[in-house]
Amino acid sequence: MSVMGYFRQICAIPHGSFHTEQISSFLEQFAQDEKLRYVRDEAGNVIIFKPASPGYEDHEPLILQGHVDMVLEKTADCTKDLEKEAITLIEDGEWLKADRTTLGADDGTAVAMMMEALSDNSLAHPPLECVFTVNEEVGMLGAEALDTSVLSGTRLLNLDSEEEGVLTAGCAGGAEETFRVPFKTETEDGILVEFLVDGLLGGHSGDAINRGRANADFIMARLLYRLMKKYEFNLVSIEGGNKDNAIPRECRASILFPNGAEQSTIEKTVQKIDDQIVAEYSRTDPELSVTWNWKGDENLRRDVLCMTEKATRKALRLLMALPNGVIEYSPDFPGLPQTSLSMGILKTEMPEDEDGEIVLTGTFLVRSSINSQKGYVINRLEAIVKEFDGELTECGVYPAWEYRPDSSFRNMIVSVFEAKFGRKPEVVMIHGGLECGLLSGKIAGLDCVSIGPDTEDIHTPAERLNIPSFERTWELVKGIMEQA
Ligand SMILES: [Zn+2]
Repeated sequence: MSVMGYFRQICAIPHGSFHTEQISSFLEQFAQDEKLRYVRDEAGNVIIFKPASPGYEDHEPLILQGHVDMVLEKTADCTKDLEKEAITLIEDGEWLKADRTTLGADDGTAVAMMMEALSDNSLAHPPLECVFTVNEEVGMLGAEALDTSVLSGTRLLNLDSEEEGVLTAGCAGGAEETFRVPFKTETEDGILVEFLVDGLLGGHSGDAINRGRANADFIMARLLYRLMKKYEFNLVSIEGGNKDNAIPRECRASILFPNGAEQSTIEKTVQKIDDQIVAEYSRTDPELSVTWNWKGDENLRRDVLCMTEKATRKALRLLMALPNGVIEYSPDFPGLPQTSLSMGILKTEMPEDEDGEIVLTGTFLVRSSINSQKGYVINRLEAIVKEFDGELTECGVYPAWEYRPDSSFRNMIVSVFEAKFGRKPEVVMIHGGLECGLLSGKIAGLDCVSIGPDTEDIHTPAERLNIPSFERTWELVKGIMEQA
C-alpha cells in the first residue's frame, strides 16, 4: 500500500468525532492482519507496536501519534448523513478534497502514515509505538483517557500539524469554563423583536484570536447595553455560537419592548450604534451586520415569559463585565498570544414552569502557554460570575506543551529536513491546542515535535490536502524513523 492508498481506505469509513467505533475496529483488524501487538482501551484509542527493523534493536522506541476522529461539516445543499455515510473524494490537480464535506486530512493523513509505517517491512526504524487517539476535536478526550504506561518511548512525533516545513515545538494549554447564572422572570405583554448580528468571519479561537475579529455575542451585548441606557425592555433569550473553540459568527437575541414603545425612535438609536460597530470592524469583519424583524403591530405578543427588567439589566452588565480576547502576548515569539480567552457559546435556558428562572450560560475556552496565567484568567471569570450569583464549572483541561530550548529530537528532525529538502524548517509555537500538551503531562521528560502536510481550510467543507506535500511529509517521517 502507499500513504495515499491508506488515506483513501480511511475516507471510506465514516469517522466523525464521537463516531469512531468503526475506525477503531478497522485499526484493530489491521493490527491482527499485520500480526502486530496492539491494545485498544475503553475510550477507543488504539496503540499498535512494531518491533525494530534489523540493526535497530537497541534503539529507543519512537512514538508516532495522530487522532482518528474528524470534524464533520458539510455545505447546506449536501444531503449525506456523515455519521453513517462515507465522503466522496475529488482529485483536483495537486489537491484532494471532498464533495461538499470536510475531507478529514485532519487527521486521516496521520492515520495513513502510521499504517504505512506499520505495514511496510522494508523500512528502517527503531521499535515503533503508534498511538491512534479518538475524539481529539471535541476536547482531546481520547488523549485524556489514554493510559500511557504501556508506552516506553520518550520521543513523540505528532502528525497533526497543517503546514509542511513548519515544526511545532510547543502549544498553549486550555480549559473549558462554563458559567451559569439564573435570572428572575415574569410574564409580560409587549412587542417582541428579534435582533440578529451576523456576517462575521469568526475562526478558530486558538489561531484567530489575535486577528481582531469581532465575537457576535459581545457585539450583541454591546448593542443591547447601549439600548438599555435609553429604553426599557425585557430580555427573553440570547444565543450565539455552538462550538467552544470557534469565535461565534452569529448571535440572536429576543427582547420585549413595552406596548407603546416607539419603533422609529428606537430604530434611529439602533442604526447609530450599528453604524459605529460596522465602522469599527470594517477591516476585520467587512460583512458584519445588525438587523431586526420589527414589522409594526405584527410583533405584538401576550404573556411572554422573559427576564424582569431588573434581571435584564443585571444580565447585560454581566456580559459587559466578562473579559474576552488576548490577555497577554508572548515575550519570546512576537505576535503570538500567550494567554487568551474566547466565549464560543452563549445561550439562555428557559425554565420548566412560569415562576422558574431563565439561566444565562456561556462557555469560554481559556488558553495559555503558561499554566499559572491560565489559572489567573479562570479566577477572573470566577470572581465576576460569583459576583453575579452564578457558578463556574470546568472541563476539558489540558496542560501547556512548554517549549524546550534544547531538544535533541527536534535538532535531529531539523537536520533530516535540511538534508532531504535543502532548506531549514521553521520552528514555531502555537496558541491552539495539540494532544502533545496532555501527553507531555503524562510522560515524564517527553521530547515532542509536531509536523504535517499542507492542508487548507480544515474543519470546513473547503478542506483540501496537497498530495505532493503529503508524499514529501511521508518521506520526512521515513527519514526521521531511520535516524531515530
Ligand atoms: Zn487535528
